[in-house]
Amino acid sequence: MTMVDPGNQTVAILGYGTAGVNAAIALRRAGFDGVIRVFSDTDILPYSPILTSYYAGGLKTYEECFPWSAEELAELSLEVVANSPVVELDPEAHVVRTAEGEFPYTKCVIATGATPVPVGFPPVEGDEAYKPIVLRTMENAERLKTAIEDPLCKRVLVSGASMVALKTLEACLYHGIECTLVGVNPHVLDMNALPEAAERFEKGLVEKGVTLRLGNRIASVKRIDDADGFQGRKLEVTFANGDVDTFDEISVSHGMKSNIEFVKEGSLEIDRALVVDDFMRTSNPDVYAAGDVAQGTELISGQKRIVGIWKNAALQGACAGRAIAAELAGEEPPADCALEGSIATNTIVVKGTLFISAGTMELSEGRWTEVRESDDMTVVYVFEDAGDGQRRLVGFNITCDHDDEGSVAFDTGAMLVMQIERGLRER
Ligand SMILES: Cc1cc2nc3c(=O)[nH]c(=O)nc-3n(C[C@H](O)[C@H](O)[C@H](O)COP(=O)(O)OP(=O)(O)OC[C@H]3O[C@@H](n4cnc5c(N)ncnc54)[C@H](O)[C@@H]3O)c2cc1C
Repeated sequence: MTMVDPGNQTVAILGYGTAGVNAAIALRRAGFDGVIRVFSDTDILPYSPILTSYYAGGLKTYEECFPWSAEELAELSLEVVANSPVVELDPEAHVVRTAEGEFPYTKCVIATGATPVPVGFPPVEGDEAYKPIVLRTMENAERLKTAIEDPLCKRVLVSGASMVALKTLEACLYHGIECTLVGVNPHVLDMNALPEAAERFEKGLVEKGVTLRLGNRIASVKRIDDADGFQGRKLEVTFANGDVDTFDEISVSHGMKSNIEFVKEGSLEIDRALVVDDFMRTSNPDVYAAGDVAQGTELISGQKRIVGIWKNAALQGACAGRAIAAELAGEEPPADCALEGSIATNTIVVKGTLFISAGTMELSEGRWTEVRESDDMTVVYVFEDAGDGQRRLVGFNITCDHDDEGSVAFDTGAMLVMQIERGLRER
């Protein structure tokens, strides 16, 4: 089947998530009244991956995971091609291919997000079909929720120490599960935290009953019977240091990969993801990319990097939508819609222990840290030499023993983000 392109102005949006929806909103706001055809690999409304762990942990209802109502989305007059994962994007032919057929486009936005990759998780002896729990989609969240709500599930191993791993861990703690966290690095929070801030966070985890196995990894996993002889009920894990322990479930958060495997080989510039300019244009003038598939400018390094956070996806989607609307109206994309770049920001709370970070933790030459500790909070500042006898803040971590709204920790975090942004403007 080949779809007809009615007004010769069809924008294809691949992926119905934050970046995709924001691209559609921006297109309509900028006056584009042609066809917006959105390709989705599910038949549910766009959801927030951020909220999946809160849903699994029982802190949010299923309905609360959807930032836009059906009515709000209907106002955008989108043609949604549901349950239809894109299998090929052919930029030269201006065609999107799915199992349903070929769909021509005038301009296209790739906004297909990312998928967890349980890299390094070994095949389970006695249960080769076993897949560890991962977290991204509502389907993933359902599996986690079902697993940890099962009264027989008492002990969970969380492998990985990233933000996603810690959010999974928090969901387990809310169901009274005994948790062990294993991570290859000596500290939690991987690339986001410096040791002093991570250590305070780790203390908070231990106080909540979490067993930490840091600087370690899963070496092998075996399906075994439980103490009552219930066949294959448990997972026996041997760690790299030789320790052995048993669990009811294993969750793995070892990283994400951008969903771009459908891009026709050699047709677009790809590094770790799709390399984009300040208007989210890829190397093909009619193909844009936004969100976790895009490698735009990271402001502190000045390099093209994936900044995999919600706000960035939303801003990039909106930027792509506005730029496309202008181009389809025969104009240049407006200068004020250019995104000069972004910085990484993260906030996570695990049952009261708060961690906020922004900017870079890369301690390259000319950078140093300063640590301030109080009774309830550790702040680590990353400064760099501004070259004029001044120093510039380029990153920070805050770990606080509580997460009270409007507390000093949140105020300090907001103030330090502004300080980083001011420094970048002056650079
Ligand atoms: C557990 C978790 C917690 C997080 N917490 C935070 C947080 O606290 N703060 C923060 O800022 N960010 C957080 N993030 C990151 C944030 O959710 C993402 O950066 C953001 O959702 C990216 O938006 P996106 O539109 O690029 O991708 P998505 O929101 O993933 O949307 C992409 C959509 O495209 C679909 N798709 C994929 N392949 C295809 C295909 N071939 N065809 C059609 N459709 C396809 C996907 O299924 C998905 O629906 C978290 C992420 C996770 C997983």
